[in-house]
Amino acid sequence: MPVTNEKVFISPGRYVQGEGVTARAGHYVSALGKTALLIADDVVWKIAGEQLSASLEGEGVSFERAVFEGEASNREIDRLVELGRKQQADVIIGFGGGKAIDTAKGVAEKLEAACAILPTTASTDAPTSALSVIYSDDGEFESYRFYSKNPDLVLVDTGIICKAPPRFLASGIADALATWVEARAAIRANANNMAGGKATLLGATIGEKCEDILFEHAMLAYQANEAQIVTPSFEAVVEANTLLSGLGFESGGLAAAHAIHNGFTALHGEIHNLTHGEKVAYGTVAQLILDQTPQAELEEYLDLYIALGLPVTLKALKLDQASEEDLYRVAEAALKEGESSHNLAYELTPKQVVHAIKAVDAHARAFMAKVGLGE
Ligand SMILES: [Zn+2]
Repeated sequence: MPVTNEKVFISPGRYVQGEGVTARAGHYVSALGKTALLIADDVVWKIAGEQLSASLEGEGVSFERAVFEGEASNREIDRLVELGRKQQADVIIGFGGGKAIDTAKGVAEKLEAACAILPTTASTDAPTSALSVIYSDDGEFESYRFYSKNPDLVLVDTGIICKAPPRFLASGIADALATWVEARAAIRANANNMAGGKATLLGATIGEKCEDILFEHAMLAYQANEAQIVTPSFEAVVEANTLLSGLGFESGGLAAAHAIHNGFTALHGEIHNLTHGEKVAYGTVAQLILDQTPQAELEEYLDLYIALGLPVTLKALKLDQASEEDLYRVAEAALKEGESSHNLAYELTPKQVVHAIKAVDAHARAFMAKVGLGE
């Protein structure tokens, strides 16, 4: 029998953040291994590949670059494991966005190699966790894959991240805003966190702090990102999106927001062009409604999401043409056995989930009319 009162907190070995820290990558990676498999896509490589290469070579780390093919799938992980095995890599470097990062973690686990994560956007909280979200080759959510440890190093260069499109930062803010909404619900329900235990005080505090930082600095950070400059608010939000959100969800717990996101991935069509965070934003508002959040508080979230250009109407989510059947497909996927929707203090039916999805749209449109925003 599992012990039900066991508290667990987990985290990466080292977190480094700052403008220009890519130049220090060799210093940190060389402490983990000397032969690296570096997983990055071509776009990312163009942006900062030269800088990273120089830093690794300067510290005696030899590496081979593997081109990431775009999906965090079992097949892609297996393909890269073979490359790493041939090369006898002792450290795997994931350089890029959420899916490249999740793939690198899977490869490192299989090869029992060290893992260094260098995110080039602050668009998800994937970098710090000891799990990957696995998708089919067509991009449909399949499962969470859990690992024996978190990455050994997470190195975040805000000088690179401030050059990424602001849409990515907004997506990361949405992923990070879900953290406390979900963790507090899971804690209330005495559900397990993603580390397989109850939340520690630290795990809970991180999620709450993450939300405070975002309500205070999200817009300032977004504006800095538009201007491609690094400011203290930008640094704070990158840290909230990456470190606080990552530790907060993993050692706090997930609930309905991410389950509804996973449900959305079961649909085909234009919704696939939305980012992880954009779909999570919609799922978060749905969970807030199910949690019976008072109007004034709900509107604070809506206000921030709308200001950041995040989708809170069915139209913005590309689901205004969705059939009743489609919405039930989302709900049923969100309520699958093992999904985090069961971490709530109450049980949900598919109908309640469908109504919550429609309620997000109704409340968001009413709020926009109230504050004089057109659709
Ligand atoms: Zn997420």
